[in-house]
Amino acid sequence: MDKDIDKWPIGVFTSIDAGLGVHLEVARDLGVSTAHLHAPRAASRTAECAREFSSRLEDFGIEVTCVFGGFEGESYVDIPTVKATVGLVPLATRDDRLRELFEIADFARLLEVEAVGLHVGFIPHGPDDATYRDIVVATRTVCDHCVQNNQALHLETGQEPADVLLRFLADVERDNLFINFDPANMILYGVGQPLPALEKLGRYVRSVHCKDATWSSEPGVTWGREMPLGEGDVEFAAFLQTLGRIGYRGPLIIEREIPQEPERQKAEIGRAIELLAKLKQQLASKNKK
Ligand code: MG
Repeated sequence: MDKDIDKWPIGVFTSIDAGLGVHLEVARDLGVSTAHLHAPRAASRTAECAREFSSRLEDFGIEVTCVFGGFEGESYVDIPTVKATVGLVPLATRDDRLRELFEIADFARLLEVEAVGLHVGFIPHGPDDATYRDIVVATRTVCDHCVQNNQALHLETGQEPADVLLRFLADVERDNLFINFDPANMILYGVGQPLPALEKLGRYVRSVHCKDATWSSEPGVTWGREMPLGEGDVEFAAFLQTLGRIGYRGPLIIEREIPQEPERQKAEIGRAIELLAKLKQQLASKNKK
């Protein structure tokens, strides 16, 4: 029997001093008990900062389950710029970013967080591409660093179709490599319907972002539009049903990429929490029938 009460705690994406997540105080005011964290700037990745942050997390009763890497110089302004600037794909910054990612993983370990999240960048879609092979090797290196910290690496979905990602996971050949599934990214980047992708990737999905978006009129060429949860093209009732089918029990992390205005974040994310709580309840009572 499914103990629905225990699964899918609702949480939020948070930030300390980098990224567009909510600050910890906003997360506390929203009453959540679980969160993802955008890695802080390099200067803040110290043992002292980790201690201070851990103690605030404890005071607020919030558990961070994944720390996401992010780098200076990344830009999400349009799809070609993402290809040129994001993750481990750009050759000019790859080695520096690998080193930085190790640092981020070590900072996450200080927070006792067992997963590191990453937008690896646009993985070339053909396995014969030299860059593809280099990214496989680079990702292996990150997995091997994480394993020393008892951590998993969660690749954020978005820039590639599910089949490309499945082949990539197989080629990296590391058993601490998993997926953070973000249904809105599939829509924003125009790389496929999110729910069939979630079914396909199911056994690898270890964390999820609840984010919403509408399709672009030219999918894959121009951006779709990120929307408040429930107002875009991700069907969240069906999303939760699919999560149930693949056996996912972890947190539902609401991610909203809006400026850090606490009142706006509280209002919008508060509504998203209510909606997800309602959908969870509807699904639980449907499953009981
Ligand atoms: Mg995301």
